[in-house]
Amino acid sequence: MGLRSLFKRDKSKQKTEAAEDCHIDINADDCGGCEKCAIACPNNVLIIVDDVSTVRDAQVCKSCKVCMAICPNDCITVN
Ligand code: SF4
Ligand code: SF4
Repeated sequence: MGLRSLFKRDKSKQKTEAAEDCHIDINADDCGGCEKCAIACPNNVLIIVDDVSTVRDAQVCKSCKVCMAICPNDCITVN
């Protein structure tokens, strides 16, 4: 039982570190839901939900910044 909780703790730590590798900010107020970022992303990171670009899975983002470059409203920031 002790080992299992240790394993769980390690897994959640790994997930946090991976997410910190790529930080994606989307300004939902400026997003027009045009879907250009979602289509352009080579890693299928972004999806449109309720006409707003939304991060589907930050862990697969490679920080290529294609989404930033293509957005007509300048509403994506990738660090
Ligand atoms: S930085 Fe690249 S991989 Fe990450 S969400 Fe934008 S287009 Fe996709
Ligand atoms: S390209 Fe920009 S405006 Fe278009 S859906 Fe993506 S974040 Fe929104």
